Amino acid sequence: MPPMRAIRAREIVIHPRRPPVDDGAVVFDAGRVVASGPASVVLRGFSGPVEDLGPVTVTPGLINAHVHLELSHVAGGTVRGQGFTAWLRSLIGNSLGKLSQLALDKAIAQMQACGTVAVIDITSRNTARVAAALEAANIGGLLAVEFFGFADAGALRWPVDLDALPDPARQRVAAAGHALYSTHPETLRAAHQWCARHGRPFSLHLAEHPDETEQMLTGKGEFARLLRKAGVLPEDWTAPGCRPVAYADLLGLLDRSTLAVHCVQLDPGDIDTLAARGCTVCLCPRSNEYIAVGRAPWRRLDRAGVPLCLGTDGLSSNQDLSLWNEAAALLREADGPGFFRALEWMTLNPARLLGAEQLYGTLEPGAVAGYSIVPDGAIRAA
Ligand SMILES: [Zn+2]
Repeated sequence: MPPMRAIRAREIVIHPRRPPVDDGAVVFDAGRVVASGPASVVLRGFSGPVEDLGPVTVTPGLINAHVHLELSHVAGGTVRGQGFTAWLRSLIGNSLGKLSQLALDKAIAQMQACGTVAVIDITSRNTARVAAALEAANIGGLLAVEFFGFADAGALRWPVDLDALPDPARQRVAAAGHALYSTHPETLRAAHQWCARHGRPFSLHLAEHPDETEQMLTGKGEFARLLRKAGVLPEDWTAPGCRPVAYADLLGLLDRSTLAVHCVQLDPGDIDTLAARGCTVCLCPRSNEYIAVGRAPWRRLDRAGVPLCLGTDGLSSNQDLSLWNEAAALLREADGPGFFRALEWMTLNPARLLGAEQLYGTLEPGAVAGYSIVPDGAIRAA
């Protein structure tokens, strides 16, 4: 266990919903916060090493609520700005299973550099390696093992060998669904029910792009043709004839444990449904911009009371895994969420979804000994 130590900084956000502390300090011991508050109080009588971080703002460690670490080697290998179908076509032109250690190490380093303490990582290949890298970097959270495809309807055949995972990794597993357009509805239901039984969040890519909406409504379009050609979508598949959120609701996939990822293509009824079911939505603004699928209506979701999180998505659709850069994409908007609201989306909300508010989301005693330094004055001032 690391020895007792402390940090000090000009400004420390101990809890995202409370005013920051000027000239603050946090004391860590045995991997946990043991004291936090004004330096004059917290450091009185403290004899261990104190690292003075200087004129910066320190926040609780961040939670990246949607990332695909196993696609880190695909960085730069997909087309941008041409819509989802073109992006997917370019993605499957890569060797998706061939994650290099260098790419994985670089991706983990990017997350550490912005003070990431937990993730919801989507995985179906190289899970053991990703788990080991997260463990070594002391990054907690979930390995959301993703079910994909229309074969084995509802049978929940895990794409990874859970028994072969070392114990700490196995404790972090959740079942996740890829998407309505790619995965059998009974499999999605079974994955959702597995999560309900095990008290884990259920993650699903939902309402990400207009091609998905078209496929759900009509079963036609270039996207559906590509999925059929790739052997993903069965020839006899018929469209449910409703929008993605309505279909997910019909299948019983939406509730308080659900993390609906992207949610770009929403109409007002969809927002009402997500709010009524108590879903959490993960925004991935830079991935959406990269693929050119539109922008999530985050203001309307926020006003409707839908808890929001932020995710970088994978390096297959983003330039880096910095959550601060993700937040900056929204904070730069004319009527942005503001620094503290965005901070909640990277701390308190995902911590609650993970059922781990004692460990993550704040720098109060008991929280993990991780923190983040706001990299840029413009972000803090937003
Ligand atoms: Zn994703």
